[in-house]
Amino acid sequence: MEKEKWRKFILKSEGLEKWKIKDCQGGGLCQHKIKTIICPSYNQALFLHEVAHALLPKRGHDAVWADIFTELCRRYLSLPQGKSVENKIIPH
Ligand SMILES: [Zn+2]
Repeated sequence: MEKEKWRKFILKSEGLEKWKIKDCQGGGLCQHKIKTIICPSYNQALFLHEVAHALLPKRGHDAVWADIFTELCRRYLSLPQGKSVENKIIPH
């Protein structure tokens, strides 16, 4: 799957379709106020890291956050092309 499509697909699958993605060089950032994930396009793991923050506001990197991040990686880093996911990780 092409990178941009892959990222939008994940936002949609996890109920974050109102969120925007902004490219940058270097580190990632999750801005809840403006619903924007800022992340370099070449770094898929960092994108999933920021998606976990988008799903779990104000938790930092606690155990719950780590579980969600792990699940995101399991699901989306090995996703066969065109396959859809059955359930959101966090229903909302
Ligand atoms: Zn973080």
